[in-house]
Amino acid sequence: MARFDGKVAIVTGAASGIGKEIALRFAAEGAIPVIADLNLDAAEATAAEIRAKGGDAFAVAMNVTDEAQVDKGVADVVAKYGRVDILVSNAGIQIVNPLVDFAFSDWKKMLAIHLDGAFLTTRACLKHMYAANYGRVIYMGSVHSKEASKLKAPYVTAKHGLIGLAKVLAKEGAEHNVTANVVCPGFVRTPLVEKQIPEQAAAFGISEADVISKIMLKDTIDTTFTTTDEVADAVLFFAAADTCVMSGQSLVVSHGWFMQ
Ligand code: NAD
Repeated sequence: MARFDGKVAIVTGAASGIGKEIALRFAAEGAIPVIADLNLDAAEATAAEIRAKGGDAFAVAMNVTDEAQVDKGVADVVAKYGRVDILVSNAGIQIVNPLVDFAFSDWKKMLAIHLDGAFLTTRACLKHMYAANYGRVIYMGSVHSKEASKLKAPYVTAKHGLIGLAKVLAKEGAEHNVTANVVCPGFVRTPLVEKQIPEQAAAFGISEADVISKIMLKDTIDTTFTTTDEVADAVLFFAAADTCVMSGQSLVVSHGWFMQ
């Protein structure tokens, strides 16, 4: 029997990058991943990839900042499968700019995706998790949940905020056997990061190679990018928790960048 047999796992932002890998890994270990993403075509493609390997998967169009879409998406999942066991709140974007120039609209957009999205998806899933007396919620944080970098004010603010949300959920959820954790990756070469390399090169007036070696990997212990697989390992570890023993905790997965 596989570790997640029969479990339904909603993964937001699972059409690409880290979320996609998490969905593939859940499917490989028996779960039914729900690919909830803004980009429905890409979500359908991920679901088709999983079904082609013999698993089940369900693609849902969901803008995590839209209360009605989140509530409908989760309701559709429960209507189809009768349950939601796991939520991985992962959808995210990056906008870099010095604080002095940051557009208020960009600030609000960042907080909406990372924080409103986490809140809305959590709230929608919790009703069903409490009724079932079981739930595992994992937020995609970042080393930037614990550390700061220049140009990333709203990202760092939002990622720190997820740790607070997870701690509250750990306390409120415990009596319902619902746990909450944050996984905090270092740099992973997904489309989100590929986009930042030329942007940071331009912002700092350095080469793209220097962005990688002197900024992104500077503080790792082995000059190595974190991989989507390594992040998925940590997510599945928390998702498989038998008890509340680790609930409320966050784990840095970063090749040594920011040790606690
Ligand atoms: P990605 O760009 O590869 O994938 C992000 C996915 O989120 C895309 O499929 C996109 O369509 C979706 N998305 C964006 N806005 C959305 C919205 N409003 N509603 C629903 N879906 C939306 O990015 P990634 O690197 O895989 O990032 C995933 C998460 O991991 C993000 O929360 C990011 O902050 C976090 N993270 C990434 C890194 C990294 O180095 N790549 C490091 C630490 C944390």
